[in-house]
Amino acid sequence: MVEPTASEPRELIIIGSGPAGYTAAVYAARAGLAPLVLEGALEAGGSLMTTTEVENYPGFSSGVDGPTLMSEMRAQAERFGAEILPEDVVEVDLIGHVKRVRSTDGEYTAKAVVLATGSGYRKLGLSDEERLSGSGVSWCATCDGYFFKDREVAVVGGGDSALEEATFLARLVSKVTLVHRRDALRGSRIMQERAENDPKIEFAWRTEVAGIDGEDEVEGLTLRDVDSGQTRRLSVAALFVAIGHDPRSELFRGQVDLDDAGYVLVDAPTTRTNLPGVFACGDLVDHSYRQAITAAGSGCAAALDAERFLADVRDVDARAAATTA
Ligand code: NAP
Repeated sequence: MVEPTASEPRELIIIGSGPAGYTAAVYAARAGLAPLVLEGALEAGGSLMTTTEVENYPGFSSGVDGPTLMSEMRAQAERFGAEILPEDVVEVDLIGHVKRVRSTDGEYTAKAVVLATGSGYRKLGLSDEERLSGSGVSWCATCDGYFFKDREVAVVGGGDSALEEATFLARLVSKVTLVHRRDALRGSRIMQERAENDPKIEFAWRTEVAGIDGEDEVEGLTLRDVDSGQTRRLSVAALFVAIGHDPRSELFRGQVDLDDAGYVLVDAPTTRTNLPGVFACGDLVDHSYRQAITAAGSGCAAALDAERFLADVRDVDARAAATTA
């Protein structure tokens, strides 16, 4: 457990960034709570930092790229007095009245905490996936796609992420094989049409990635037909894994109630968790919508819930002080 610190706790700590964390910071800062945001070291800004064009965030009729949207939200929070530190949280103690949060760089206390750690890329679980990560196995086409310019690559998955990765890669590479385990895509109609109409994208339906081949870098895949079980080799220079995300809730396990899939449980429609003074928002909570705008909306709700909680705490403290006086 995190060791106690002597200093007076601050009002609010927000753990995590992305649209949920930054929006919570904007609202909390404008409410005068001077929140501390521990935004993460390497992955500050969340998954939108590796997204190209965001076309469905209201207010941007011509679209906006993910990193720009995130840096604008961050700057907006700072403008109203949020303190934002690029630190990873490594341990929390959320149970008492004073919440304790330890990061890679320091230790902080607060009366309330907003959890907004989002979700992380899901892995296939193949033995060579980790070994060849960074040598042809990637979770981010915008980060790594250019390394495979004019070569053949594969994308695995059937949701919007896979479709977005495939469409982005098709602009750079000579051919994309989109490997999907079913014969129907899960992604939105517009993204499906874009991929289906792209002459560089070929679909391998009802097919799984059974193995990744290559000594020092990816040289090909072993694909398995889910009906017949037959395998075949596909020669590609890279595999982009886009099979969804899992909530980043490990730090809170044992303190905050989670569902079977690891998402933080909240008392919907509020963002209250089972612990007084602890609120959760964004992809850490939401396995249904998972959009930037819904994450931002729940970040706003978390800040408002925290603000009300802190106002109640102040009332109780004032009444207790009046009784003692
Ligand atoms: P998703 O919608 O959950 O889709 C995951 C896909 O991966 C599914 O097709 C699933 O197959 C497949 N899959 C899961 N585990 C697998 C495994 N072990 N092996 C092979 N395939 C596996 O996840 P997502 O595509 O990351 O999208 C998440 C959310 O973000 C969605 O709400 C999406 O709309 C949103 N998003 C939006 C945009 C955008 O609007 N620009 C971009 C990206 C994501 P099954 O279909 O068989 O389950």
